[in-house]
Amino acid sequence: MRKKMIAGNWKMNMTPSKAKELVTLLEPSIDIPDVDVVLCVPAIDIMPVTDIVKGTNIKVGAENMYYEEKGAYTGELSAEMLTDAGVSYVILGHSERRQYFHEDDAIINKKIKKALEHNITPIACCGETLGQRECNVTLNVIRKQIQEMFEGIDAFDAADCIIAYEPIWAIGTGKVATAEQAQEVCHSIREVMKDLYDNITADKVRVLYGGSMNEGNALSLLTQPDIDGGLIGGASLKMEFAKIVGSAHTNVAV
Ligand code: PEP
Repeated sequence: MRKKMIAGNWKMNMTPSKAKELVTLLEPSIDIPDVDVVLCVPAIDIMPVTDIVKGTNIKVGAENMYYEEKGAYTGELSAEMLTDAGVSYVILGHSERRQYFHEDDAIINKKIKKALEHNITPIACCGETLGQRECNVTLNVIRKQIQEMFEGIDAFDAADCIIAYEPIWAIGTGKVATAEQAQEVCHSIREVMKDLYDNITADKVRVLYGGSMNEGNALSLLTQPDIDGGLIGGASLKMEFAKIVGSAHTNVAV
């Protein structure tokens, strides 16, 4: 039985003062032992947020990380810096990083390997554009992304990674994939993991859906057999996030 996970992606929002206010308000309702709750926050918010959630079940994640160990890479953050600051998850390969910062699957692969080396759990993102969906190539696109992101990673490590299926046309647009569309792709991600590795790995890896998930649609998505949770952008900046965590919790209890 895979444990449900709800991860927030704050993107470039929330000053440290605002971050402290929001997490202080959210904390009592999102500290739930049977759901893994992760707040992926801008680098400058990591330490203040870590301080607030200390002693709870809530974990802190980063939104990006560099693949080199250390050195002359102005502006970048290393895995060691993140772990020392209290980070246990990192979002890698988000479509905004692919689009605006030209990250490709080969770069993301190096980042995943570096995160794993430092015991940071990668939340590796994949997803198709609207054009690709309309051309019926979604499953091919996803297969290629997963194959390249997981190149050279063994089954033991792969099973511990989180994969987030985020159709690009659904991110920040208010257009959510239907539960059937999301389930179809999340199921096919598990099939790809079966082909790349084995049944045990495919069964163990957690697959999240992301793209305009909110309190209204969370339950129908989270009750799909291959959807193990959500990666939440806009709604993670509000108290609504607690409602989404609540939907995952209800789903566990059922
Ligand atoms: C995201 O950016 O990962 C995301 C899912 O955003 P939103 O929920 O705002 O669509």
